[in-house]
Amino acid sequence: MPGLLTSQNITNKVSLIIGTSPLTRIRALKLLDLGAKPIIIGSTSHIASGKIQHIDRPFELEDLTQLGRSEVNKVVDNVFVTLSVSYINVIETISHECERLRIPINVADNPQLCTFTLLSTHTDGDFQFGVSTSGKGCRLANRLRREMANVLPVNIGEICNKVGDLRERLYEEDIKDLKKEVDAQDGLQHHDEIGQEDDDAIQSSTLNTLIIENNETFQQKKRQRIRWLSQVVEYYPLSKLSSISINDLTKEYKKSDLQDKNQKEPASDNTVIKKGKISLIGSGPGSEEFLTTAALTAILTADLILADKLVPSAVLNLVPRGTEVFIAKKFPGNAERAQEELLERGLEGCKRGLYVVRLKQGDPYIFGRGAEEYLFFQKHGFTPDVAPGITSALCAPLAARIPATHRDVADQVLICTGTGRKGVLPNIPEWVETRTTVFLMALHRIGDLVAALETKGWNLDVPCAVIERASCPDQRIIRTTLKDLVAAFESAGSRPPGLLVTGYACNVIEKLSDGEKWRIEEGASGLVVKFTVAIGEPPVRFRAGAIFIPK
Ligand code: SAH
Repeated sequence: MPGLLTSQNITNKVSLIIGTSPLTRIRALKLLDLGAKPIIIGSTSHIASGKIQHIDRPFELEDLTQLGRSEVNKVVDNVFVTLSVSYINVIETISHECERLRIPINVADNPQLCTFTLLSTHTDGDFQFGVSTSGKGCRLANRLRREMANVLPVNIGEICNKVGDLRERLYEEDIKDLKKEVDAQDGLQHHDEIGQEDDDAIQSSTLNTLIIENNETFQQKKRQRIRWLSQVVEYYPLSKLSSISINDLTKEYKKSDLQDKNQKEPASDNTVIKKGKISLIGSGPGSEEFLTTAALTAILTADLILADKLVPSAVLNLVPRGTEVFIAKKFPGNAERAQEELLERGLEGCKRGLYVVRLKQGDPYIFGRGAEEYLFFQKHGFTPDVAPGITSALCAPLAARIPATHRDVADQVLICTGTGRKGVLPNIPEWVETRTTVFLMALHRIGDLVAALETKGWNLDVPCAVIERASCPDQRIIRTTLKDLVAAFESAGSRPPGLLVTGYACNVIEKLSDGEKWRIEEGASGLVVKFTVAIGEPPVRFRAGAIFIPK
């Protein structure tokens, strides 16, 4: 039968801890922490005392009624036995005597002799929770406690303090008001209603302006306040509770009309007090198959989606009808302005209380200016959530059946850009025979890049591949070697976006035949399967009217 869980106030209570094991000391320190006065009893020189009283002799039954507080006739307040089982006879005697004297007793590893057991606890400030398995397994209890603690907001201690604080403020205000009311009743000689004058007086305090309804009795007002606080605690996003101020609540209460909502249906976090939010989400290389579920959820729940032309259309097709989509007008010469405009749109959305999703092609932090955007929104008070995406740098080689690393062939991968700042060539990496190198943003000046690699001492016989529109239905692969790359690429014409992969890993699965200078493969067969996950409504094309398409 499970026991009654309680939380005891043990401040200044005398706890007798019988034993000399390491557990004895752990118990004593914990009790000391909680404000009790632990006394360890047992012959040993190992128990460092400090603030803990230690009586260096074996326990005697009379100690139970002699070491306690004088207010309770020297009976100790509780007993912890940490003796080893070899003393079982002594332990049983202590247990029976404690029961007879009504002293709560806990015996380590022996639930039968306990009148109370300890819980596996998690403490953060004044917040605590404990797990009991009714003696079935303390390891299990510990594991459960850890897992439960992991799902709590990290600032649960602060949350607890804040709620306590708000409650205290409310009660303080009530006491002030009660005094005012009593004064008013004395003056006006009526018992139930508060006159206009009092309402004005109440309105002058920030808190009371929240719930003013004319002609309500003080008791009604008081009930409203308490209900209002309960509503906030119930529906406000937990993690935000720690930073909420009376002022925020004042504003939000007025806006959201909590009371009304309560009478209809419980509101979700977002509808009660809606604060803008932004997520930076990687949308993968192209195929909607390679979206994360985090990305899909964000797309389906966003109020405003910010994208740019690289975000795959297969992904944009998933945006529900009615969700506003803004696509950055990034055309040559306008990149900076387009980026600023996009950020402004996002910020404005956040300020309006919208859930803004910034979709970024591939992974947001691989050549995507993701961190710049993060810092921008953070600076303006909206720190983004960030979700990774599958980067084209790793997906494209895979799509072309090129293992980025392979034992004895490639022991490293380098992802770099083929375009430096202001369009010039970037720092060219040195030649490493066992490296797979992926060049993004490199195809528009492929001739210059190959020349620079040669100057840097690269072996131009190394196999390479240009992979364009990786994972999209119109994916194309050009397999060749560095020395024939320019000719091959020119003969095929470009199909952006695309990248270049170099290294002997290109030959592990696929190989050119003798004398074959290049080979072109069309389509993404075998890689992309039809997107079949049921997500309620089938994906619908977003409305053209809602999109801002680059001119
Ligand atoms: N954040 C992106 C990269 C942005 S830089 C990512 O992680 O994938 C843009 C470059 O990525 C393009 O110039 C091109 O080199 C490469 N790229 C993006 N999508 C691609 C795709 N589907 N196939 C091949 N290359 C791609």
